Amino acid sequence: MTQVAVFKCKCATCRQPFTWPVLSDMSYGEALIHGAHGTIHAHAWLIDHPVFDLVSKIIPRSLDSAKIIWEIFARLADPVDGQSFTCRSVCPFCGSPERDSPLEPGEVDRMVGMIDVPEATFDHFQSLNSAGKLALVKRHASDINPR
Ligand SMILES: [Zn+2]
Repeated sequence: MTQVAVFKCKCATCRQPFTWPVLSDMSYGEALIHGAHGTIHAHAWLIDHPVFDLVSKIIPRSLDSAKIIWEIFARLADPVDGQSFTCRSVCPFCGSPERDSPLEPGEVDRMVGMIDVPEATFDHFQSLNSAGKLALVKRHASDINPR
């Protein structure tokens, strides 16, 4: 579990208020991923993370590669309560990725508290053989960035 600050924000599409966890800007080498319905979150340490390292090796370097690697990594995490993960923020009410304003860790006045975020697990991905891992990473990659 990692303690993460939670901030008030509002969906730019449906205007519903909700809260969203954001890591402090000093959190080097760690990241949050979010459930596809926006109601769960998971934390990951990226340094020497076997799955993150593998995805980074498979995806060719490009302007967007950091974003793509990150999204594939999130999608490979084990689903929790039937929700798969994404690195995007998702409105828990309507699923829109748009918020009223970007959330910055420094916006202390919008901070409403702290929550415990569990570590992301990758048991399913790690149970695959090398060919299975490669195939799954490539499938997510073409899903995110069809060429
Ligand atoms: Zn919404």
